[in-house]
Amino acid sequence: MPSDRSETARTPVDALLRGGIVLTMDATRTIHEPGSVAIRGADIVAVGPVEALDAQCDAAQVVDCAGHVIMPGLINTHTHSPMSLLRGLADDLRLDVWLYGYILPVEREFVNPEFCFLGTTLACAEMLRGGTTCFADMYYHEEEVAWAAVQAGMRAICGETIMKLPTPDAATYEESLRYCADLLAHWRGHELIVAAPGPHSVYMCTPEILQETSALARQYDAPQLIHVAETQDEVEGWIAATGVHPARWLEEQGVLDTKVVAAHCVHVETEEILLMARRGVGVAHNPTSNLKLASGVAPVAEMLASRVHVGIGTDGCASNNDLSLFEEMRLAALLPKGIGRNPLAVPAEQAVAMATIQGARCLHLDHLTGSLEVGKRADLIVVSLENLHSTPRYDTTGLNIYSYLVYTAQGCDVRDVYVNGREVVRDGALLTVDERGIRAQADALARRINRFFVEREKSVLDKLIAIGGLEQRETFEVQAKGLLQDEATFLRGMAHPDIHVTRRNSRDQYDTYFLFGDPSGDRLRYREDNVILGDGRIAPIYSLALMGPAKEAEFANSVVLSRLRYTAAADRSLRFYREYFQPKTEREIVKHRERYHIRYQGLDFAVNLDRIAEPEQPNLYVEIKSRTWSQQDAIRKARLIGELLRILGAQPEDMLQHEYVDLFWGEGSAEGSKRNERSTGGCDTGRRSGGPNA
Ligand SMILES: [Zn+2]
Repeated sequence: MPSDRSETARTPVDALLRGGIVLTMDATRTIHEPGSVAIRGADIVAVGPVEALDAQCDAAQVVDCAGHVIMPGLINTHTHSPMSLLRGLADDLRLDVWLYGYILPVEREFVNPEFCFLGTTLACAEMLRGGTTCFADMYYHEEEVAWAAVQAGMRAICGETIMKLPTPDAATYEESLRYCADLLAHWRGHELIVAAPGPHSVYMCTPEILQETSALARQYDAPQLIHVAETQDEVEGWIAATGVHPARWLEEQGVLDTKVVAAHCVHVETEEILLMARRGVGVAHNPTSNLKLASGVAPVAEMLASRVHVGIGTDGCASNNDLSLFEEMRLAALLPKGIGRNPLAVPAEQAVAMATIQGARCLHLDHLTGSLEVGKRADLIVVSLENLHSTPRYDTTGLNIYSYLVYTAQGCDVRDVYVNGREVVRDGALLTVDERGIRAQADALARRINRFFVEREKSVLDKLIAIGGLEQRETFEVQAKGLLQDEATFLRGMAHPDIHVTRRNSRDQYDTYFLFGDPSGDRLRYREDNVILGDGRIAPIYSLALMGPAKEAEFANSVVLSRLRYTAAADRSLRFYREYFQPKTEREIVKHRERYHIRYQGLDFAVNLDRIAEPEQPNLYVEIKSRTWSQQDAIRKARLIGELLRILGAQPEDMLQHEYVDLFWGEGSAEGSKRNERSTGGCDTGRRSGGPNA
């Protein structure tokens, strides 16, 4: 009996998603309208026209998808999911200020396994609600990231970040590599998780790190996640250091023999693009992050034309600030059009491909996910078209549906989500994550982080400590400064039999003072100290010093006790410190300094002969300083400094009790004008030149 035969031939399936527009994203871009998708276990077992699947499948559950698109789940090819907890912490900053001033300090203080689990859970919840079923992560404590992803029911590549600097989960890179090896061994063969090494970037790694991570990747057939050519500075610096572009350098190190996922690739030339295409490198394009950090726009159209597997990523929440792939998909389609003045660049269909099947290729996971094809895992989403913003609907070219998805659809249009055959979002509600609970926990942590920053912002010192590199704690100095009537007297004085010059050098000093106009009167001095070497070469030293304004005590001979507070090597640019500390006003002093280290009466002193070039001063100044440790010591040194000043020809009436910055600059803030009055009283030179604010 024919009817009985057809009954017995029907395939039992767990779920039949029925009657939607099925966007398969297969090689020929087949669309079934209306169509259905059948799921059994973790797998897609049938895809096709609605009648065909009705006849073929015996479904335990039928999900009506009329008025909806059934499509592959979106793939986020680059993110740092725990950073969802840092969303909105610091925005509209340059990359280095953002990273070194905010992200790294908060990571040092707060990032631990709990942070990573919580942050990933929050990120997974957001991603699932927005139709993302798979993500590639690069962060720390990736074991926690993996567990959170499994609990939320997401597919993930968990890339343990490895760099030459200490990280929140490792004091050394050897430790990171061991952690990574354990991670790879632990998650080997897992149905949702692929563990991976995540060497941060060429500039944060040594050749040894990259060789080790590549060996691990080969051993486990795992992908490697790495940032490549994100900013122009990075690329120029790398070429200056090694002579080759970062991508070429990765090739030379043997990294491209492995399954690489390169995030960003904003600044790549045609040669690197062709190299990445040849080597099957996946590129994670992060349009919002690159725009927000002003890194530039990746040459996506050229990469796609060269058959590079370009996927789309959101990057971390601290630089995006959300994890919406619909938004990234739209930008991925729009940016190349605007930049290239070509409306044909990256059409909507290509953008959807980047978010699905190309994303899967980018992650080297296209055998599992990225399209709706029999044999692949059931990672799929159901997107509503029954909204004002998707009304009315046309089908004039066969491609209109892609336009709806790219140019009008939003994450909140996602109705149902399946990952690995498991329903994880139904009717817009998460089935795997307690949304309210996770929000409450994230808010509680954010309040703690907020307090940390509010406290830090109150104090220049705390801000200085936060960026690291402090070299010296507080020291006290006795010092005196005076106008010098003539250089000849000074030089005759230095030849005095009781003065023994032990060392001497010449230098040009460029000082920039940051003034904050706050009651503490703290000021920060950025100094470029150009020491002139014997052969005439210049050895610049950059330093940062935090100084209090007030003299701590005063002794005879106009000697003051001053407190030199914290000093640090200035290993970043003046521009960085300006943007990080955001001073209220700035003052510049440029001087030529002859420095003599002398012994006098058995004690060490530094004697400076200063010629002030900016603001230009007609006179010479002499400054005598010595470190001090006690009141007794300070009194004795103050007496000796008085003697020295007389020998060197500085008159008592020409003594000055202020720093140059206060002598020559005074205007500006309320604090500045108060100081100005005081310095007018203390110093009678009458040669204040007036500054930009004069
Ligand atoms: Zn990144």
